[in-house]
Amino acid sequence: MKICVFSPGIYTYGAMVIGGIIREAGYEVAITKNIAEIAGNFIFISLYSTQQLLSPGIKTVIRNLKDSGSTVIIGGAVSADPEMVLGELEPDLVVTGEGEVTVLKILHGDEWDSIPNCVYRDDDKIVKTKKERVAEISRPLPLIPDDIGNQNIRGAQTYIETHRGCFGRCSFCQVPLIFGRRIRSRKLEEILQEAELFHQKGVRRVALIGGTGSLYLSKGEVLNEDAFIGLIKGLSEIFGQKNVSCPDIRADCITDKILDAVRNYSVGWIFFGIESGSPRVLDLMQKGIYPDSIRQAVERCREHGVRVAGSFITGYPGETWEDHELTKDLIEEIAPDDLFISSAEPIPSTPLADLVLKTPDSDNPAFIPHVGEYKPLHLTEAEARAFDMMLHADNCRMIPRLTTEELYQTYLKEARTQGEDIRRATHLLQKYHH
Ligand code: SF4
Repeated sequence: MKICVFSPGIYTYGAMVIGGIIREAGYEVAITKNIAEIAGNFIFISLYSTQQLLSPGIKTVIRNLKDSGSTVIIGGAVSADPEMVLGELEPDLVVTGEGEVTVLKILHGDEWDSIPNCVYRDDDKIVKTKKERVAEISRPLPLIPDDIGNQNIRGAQTYIETHRGCFGRCSFCQVPLIFGRRIRSRKLEEILQEAELFHQKGVRRVALIGGTGSLYLSKGEVLNEDAFIGLIKGLSEIFGQKNVSCPDIRADCITDKILDAVRNYSVGWIFFGIESGSPRVLDLMQKGIYPDSIRQAVERCREHGVRVAGSFITGYPGETWEDHELTKDLIEEIAPDDLFISSAEPIPSTPLADLVLKTPDSDNPAFIPHVGEYKPLHLTEAEARAFDMMLHADNCRMIPRLTTEELYQTYLKEARTQGEDIRRATHLLQKYHH
């Protein structure tokens, strides 16, 4: 029996993990990111974005594989909305949530209705089996492709998982929904063994995955500073001090020791999900962190020599232009070293997706035509706010950036692309849940 793990475009960490589990169980398995190289009796496809559900190429290849007798199974972040995956891509089976146990039971030939985390069609009804999360995250080494060293995901060749879960409730985020709010951490020795293998295979820089890096081995909201320090120190000994990145850390999950460790054993940056400068919008987002805490956290980072990147969400349903201005004021005040600006994306199964479904398009900034300053550009309100914030951010960075004509056009294109993607994602939600 030949098995193929297909991870379109990039090798996702999850695809490599599933490949490793299959290999360890004694099956012949290959991993590829190229459609042309897919072949096998069982094809596991790892998808992370709603936009991939709309890819005609993926849809066609699935149909062809099924016609030729392969069994096609889809997992990954998109599986949070299995009806949508079944409806759009028509695989044989969707594995929802955590797939480690499920994948092996499928290959062992167990009846699908007896396997947890399965969703599939049986004639015209959809069967969903019980959901289960693994009690302990322990598994064989991942299946790492030989060309992993050529990959570039925000500067890193791969992510590496340290723990699952987040105590947060951010309305736009899938992490607590897929992995729960209790923190389950991997053993340090397993993480480092895996990191060694990635390094041998050509990975020069890794980024931690898992929501908030400093929650590693924490008990709920009680941080385990020493565990986090041991983790990034151990990784930095493998990859080098400037080749470990812990992208996202909640602003209320830092301490002096954690910041010193970030400075000493990583690229020296912290990425805060700041989202908005408006307490009202932060309440809508269930963020639980307000601008005063952000100001203090940013100041504390700078005292410890840690640079700060902030991510901001614009065009959240219910956000007004006054809220938008508050966010701009906060950006100006804290002067982040770098910024990421995105329009609010209703990721399936999140509270934001529910809110978007309840919000008529006529009240949703993603659809309302903008009639203010940027009217001649024919943007929606969400696009105009994203574009406006990108322009504003250039003046507010710690080292200000001159907005050249080229950058202006880049931001405009980015705002329009985000707007288009969000409308497509919203239409898909409406198709399956209205
Ligand atoms: S803190 Fe980060 S990982 Fe946790 S729920 Fe919020 S966005 Fe998600």
